[in-house]
Amino acid sequence: MNQPVFRAPKGTFDFVPPRGEAILAVRDAMTEPLRHAGYGYIETPSFEETALFARGVGESTDIVTKEMYTFTTRGGDDVTLRPEGTAPVLRAALENGLHRGALPVKLWYSGSYYRYERPQKGRYRHFSQVGAEVLGAEDPAIDAELIVLAMDAYRALGLTGVRVVVNSLGSDESRPAYRAALQEYLRRLDLDEDTAKRVEINPLRVLDDKRPEVQAALAEAPLMSEFLSDSDRAHHDTVRALLSDAGVPFDDDPRLVRGLDYYTRTLFEFVHSGIGAAQSAVGGGGRYDGLSELIGGPRLPGVGWALGADRTLLAMEAEGLTLPGRTGVDVFAVPLGDDAAQRLFGVVTALRREGVRADIAVGGRGLKGAMKAADRSGARIAIVLGERDLAENVAQMKDLESGEQLAIPLGDVISQARDRLASLE
Ligand code: AMP
Repeated sequence: MNQPVFRAPKGTFDFVPPRGEAILAVRDAMTEPLRHAGYGYIETPSFEETALFARGVGESTDIVTKEMYTFTTRGGDDVTLRPEGTAPVLRAALENGLHRGALPVKLWYSGSYYRYERPQKGRYRHFSQVGAEVLGAEDPAIDAELIVLAMDAYRALGLTGVRVVVNSLGSDESRPAYRAALQEYLRRLDLDEDTAKRVEINPLRVLDDKRPEVQAALAEAPLMSEFLSDSDRAHHDTVRALLSDAGVPFDDDPRLVRGLDYYTRTLFEFVHSGIGAAQSAVGGGGRYDGLSELIGGPRLPGVGWALGADRTLLAMEAEGLTLPGRTGVDVFAVPLGDDAAQRLFGVVTALRREGVRADIAVGGRGLKGAMKAADRSGARIAIVLGERDLAENVAQMKDLESGEQLAIPLGDVISQARDRLASLE
């Protein structure tokens, strides 16, 4: 076979059927609990002014320093394909004045994100997320609500191996003291140049270093939990209590940090062991009470998450779950001859308009080829129309499972097909 001339760019891939339907079903399952809980849909552009991410995500993060698809437009604007959804959604909420209406504002979104990562299983340069953000509420009940809604989505997909890990990063009241203590500890370690630089810019990120020797050196590092102010601790305890009440088990991880700078207080990650060593997170999020001010807005507390659709599908495959999302049809029409084709085209159109999933053999294939196509289509019923049937004004309705066949008046095909399908359900 000839090699195709064009391939999907490195780190990207296509979803083709039936996996195409599966990824759609995954996204639907993730958004369902949100819609059910009164969240409104928001859609923002796939690219933004680069400065939004530089300021919003953090100048020293891997995302901003290494992973952004940034370019200058013909008009000289500096723009970036969105690497994440929170900063754009907050930008849009502020621009559209949503924060001046009734609070909290609860939003959900779904779309493509772009990061120039080193591609591997579960880590791509183009991936999709479903996200949720709640703006204008400091109440820990919102943090817990979001975690519960995500866990409900994973459960609805049949996943049993998703765990949620929680931590508190503290607020402005407690983080500066912790940061200083952590810095003091880290400065005493023998670290490589890059890591030593990170200690000065963003010491918390060092906790996220996956190298075993760094993790070992961190064994005695001070923990945020030892520095939480009373109100930060009360916030975190309420989140944990509400999760317990909701029957959502969670693990505390006092070292959990995430690759974006904007988090305060509640931080959480949804993890699954079936995807690959380097990327166990199927989703994550947290509170970002200072982000609005960071991007030039008023004080506006917020909390949100993003769930990775691609990785969630991988987790489902790892658990051996039947992929969600139906392909195929229920009725397959097989015309034999041009007149029959014309007649059945109308019948299939009417079936589809009536809400019946229907398809038709095309290209004037013989009976054998067309019946093969009928089998492949997943249909339960075939409607076969030959020259003689047409002359007698009947069609053959064939049950593709039992092989049973019945002549029915052509004018009754639609109603009889519907009745038969209903009786098979
Ligand atoms: P983050 O914004 O990094 O917290 O990402 C949220 C979720 O999106 C992660 O938990 C992953 O499931 C997914 N995700 C992030 N980056 C990638 C990537 N490069 N490829 C595939 N999924 C990703």
